[in-house]
Amino acid sequence: MSDRVKYILDEEKIPTHWYNIEADLKEKTPPPVDPSTGKPMDISKLECIFSKGAIEQETTHERYVEIPKPVRDIMRNWRPSPLFRARRLEKVLDTPARIYFKYEGVSPSGSHKTNSAVAQAFENKRQGTKKVTTETGAGQWGSALSQACSIFGIECKVYMVRCSYDQKPYRKAMMELFGGTVIPSPSPYTEAGRAVLAEDPNCRGSLGIAISEAIEEVLKGKDTKYCLGSVLNHVLLHQTVIGEEAIKQFELADDYPDIVIGACGGGSNFAGMAFPFLGEKLRGGKDVEILGVEPAACPSLTKGKYAYDFGDVAKMTPLMKMYTLGSFFIPPAVHAGGLRYHGMAPQISNVARQGLMSARTVQQLDVFRDAVIFARAEGITPAPESSHAISAAMDEARKCKESGESRAILFNLSGHGHMDMAAYIEYFAGSLKNYDYPEEEIAMALSGLPSL
Ligand SMILES: *Cc1c(COP(=O)(O)O)cnc(C)c1O
Repeated sequence: MSDRVKYILDEEKIPTHWYNIEADLKEKTPPPVDPSTGKPMDISKLECIFSKGAIEQETTHERYVEIPKPVRDIMRNWRPSPLFRARRLEKVLDTPARIYFKYEGVSPSGSHKTNSAVAQAFENKRQGTKKVTTETGAGQWGSALSQACSIFGIECKVYMVRCSYDQKPYRKAMMELFGGTVIPSPSPYTEAGRAVLAEDPNCRGSLGIAISEAIEEVLKGKDTKYCLGSVLNHVLLHQTVIGEEAIKQFELADDYPDIVIGACGGGSNFAGMAFPFLGEKLRGGKDVEILGVEPAACPSLTKGKYAYDFGDVAKMTPLMKMYTLGSFFIPPAVHAGGLRYHGMAPQISNVARQGLMSARTVQQLDVFRDAVIFARAEGITPAPESSHAISAAMDEARKCKESGESRAILFNLSGHGHMDMAAYIEYFAGSLKNYDYPEEEIAMALSGLPSL
């Protein structure tokens, strides 16, 4: 066998269906709640914000949901994504572990985000939407949605978190290349943005603020809908192509993971990889450990509270039951901008609550140290977000070295870091730092949780 074996499926083997974990959960994920009544939300009320297709996918309890043919045809451009055995990394770590990773950086935007962007743009095209608005952290979601909208001829407006807007100018250029419009958030163009700027004109921004701005524009606009890049059930659903493919690829490799690892921001790439494996286990299949990894600077799963909270700062979203740090928590400006969200997807929160997965945090400097080792071994420049998964996977492999155990470790390499070189420059210059867990700020944000 060569050093790097790439388990690629035939195009014909691209999954025809998304997998819905809800069907296999004994305790269902609590529904969103209407903040004005404190009762479960009448989901049709959300039709002014989301496409009809997204709302159907959000609420279904069907185990398998068919991927529309036009969406599958577009995904053929980069799917199936490769599953790699990281043999050189195994050698460098001198570990008996078998390390596998699935590489989502091969998509047009360079991350898994395109999987959901195409599906969401398609549903909007189907119902005649002319324009969509969205938020973006590091810019991957904004690039993915801009590109998907360019395929379907839909206008795309992106509110980009201020600190990422300053850190990642090439992401902005990429969104504009695909025809998107990019506004740094908080902006002076919305009430939500103006309110934040009035308190702090230099606010570094958060996904919660950018979401408020994007939704506000939808409520004021015509033929305009909102798209969210993570957190919601339908986004997690779209990402399950990753895990569904991986299951088939492990058959080709004649192996099966003992542990599946993913980096968690809002949770979509992690769920997309892990839920199909967890589903097999819940239906009586092989045992597998599921591990989510988050930044110490924004530890929703490990330090958050399981409670109903808003998804945004201006309280425009329904309340969602999730592990949360409080919707007005503004995380430190870590370079993994895609992981700076105050909450965790309700389905992942529910799975974690039931003890079906575990979670841990990693520090920025450890993440970059391991990203560099990985890049030198495997020749792929990972995104800082994905590197959280890499670092945890390497820690698992290091444990195997100590114990002599040969476990199969699978992680999701959610995207490449070609637009994140400024972060690597800072790392090599020694100016990158760790952020302590912002205990006081989180305590303050949590004290403002809505009472239900
Ligand atoms: C957005 C992003 C993440 C975090 O978002 P999730 O919804 O948690 O997946 C992780 N990695 C990359 C490369 C991203 O673009």
